[in-house]
Amino acid sequence: MPQISNHMPTAELQALDAAHHMHPFTTNDELTQKGARIITRADGVWLTDSDGNRILDGMAGLWCMNIGYGRSELADVAARQMRELPYYNTFFQTTHVPAIALAQRLAELAPGDLNHVFFAGSGSEANDTNIRMARTYWQIKGQPQKNIIISRWNGYHGSSVGSGSLGGMKGMHAQGGLPIPDIHHINQPDWWSEGGEQSPEEFGLARARELEQAIETLGADRVAAFIAEPVQGAGGVIIPPATYWPEIQRICDDHDILLIADEVICGFGRTGNWFGSQTTGWRPHIMTIAKGLSSGYQPIGGSIVCDEVASVIGGEEFNHGYTYSGHPVAAAVALENLRILDEEGIVTRVAEDTGPHLRAAWESLADHPLVGEAKIIGMMASIALTPDKSARAPFAAEAGTVGYICRERCFANNLVMRHVGDRMIISPPLVISKQEIDTLVERARRSLDETHAALK
Ligand code: PLP
Repeated sequence: MPQISNHMPTAELQALDAAHHMHPFTTNDELTQKGARIITRADGVWLTDSDGNRILDGMAGLWCMNIGYGRSELADVAARQMRELPYYNTFFQTTHVPAIALAQRLAELAPGDLNHVFFAGSGSEANDTNIRMARTYWQIKGQPQKNIIISRWNGYHGSSVGSGSLGGMKGMHAQGGLPIPDIHHINQPDWWSEGGEQSPEEFGLARARELEQAIETLGADRVAAFIAEPVQGAGGVIIPPATYWPEIQRICDDHDILLIADEVICGFGRTGNWFGSQTTGWRPHIMTIAKGLSSGYQPIGGSIVCDEVASVIGGEEFNHGYTYSGHPVAAAVALENLRILDEEGIVTRVAEDTGPHLRAAWESLADHPLVGEAKIIGMMASIALTPDKSARAPFAAEAGTVGYICRERCFANNLVMRHVGDRMIISPPLVISKQEIDTLVERARRSLDETHAALK
């Protein structure tokens, strides 16, 4: 057996990885021909790879490292909790202190009467819970036919069969028999790509009203819930026009439809408030949480549920739960993460200090010849690449070709920036300093220049 460690040469680790490790969203050719990038350590906003490169993580891992890498307080809490109570479940009328304390803290942080938490191990699991919870809610209330859930094309809600069905990623629907029945998708509020001649405000209203049209076509007595991310993350950091969310709220109120905010990315400070639905101004009945809940230090997710839904669901036994629902180590680590976010004023800093600094630097990229629009909310941002800004035109090459070139230039410049088609996106750790923000944007601009040169 080889002694596998950080000290092995990169090529050997890559060969072993390609031989035995199946990766999400990766082909075998990518693993065998180029090899996976191997990350060995991380601190703050900086990753170190197996060749010793220091890379600025503009994506906070997968949008989750809100407090940054290397916080030993979380390691200490995990070790302490593992010694005291490494595991117990929360099924069958049982509980433990970490789950009690985390649920209480989340109820305190969440707005309005979102006072109850159902724990899961991930965002996907939490959204599967939400499908069953929304449908069960109407069933208990005597309306079992009210079971359709409406979501959006190009939304992302996870990778399990249920959450992948809620999501509107056509590439995911093409594999494995998705979507499950009674999920209905409407169009996204992406003005840049789909707004045509309408103003952003007109377009925001028009796209919101597609929800009302869908409800009227399907019948309000058939529709259980509408689920959406306050700002689509994996879809390309699509920030809806200001008219969108108030109209969605009105429509759900008028038709008695549950509103579910998928806060897996937007939650825990990403948009400058604790939750993205607060920044974008709407009131969900259920919120999906994960990622920033523990800043990725432990796998944990959940649903924060309003009084009315929780009381109806709890009126009967909810035949649902995961072995790791409210896992004590994950819960204790999440609680410590929330303490750090709060006591270090990280959410306020995003709203008032580093967020505005990133905004000014990011929006300055709009003068680059390849950049159509530069959009930002809090600490998530995107730029649309285009050959013709005024026409908001796509490239002649297949969508994603130029975005991929730009992503590769970013890697070469030691910056992790992702591409979604020809949109470049960032979501750095919330603790990024102003100096690191300047470095991030400088590297992004250099990568754009190199992409531009490569297209000539
Ligand atoms: N919801 C949103 C908005 C997400 O961005 C993600 C993951 O990226 C998920 C749900 C799924 O979370 P997980 O990967 O923890 O299952």
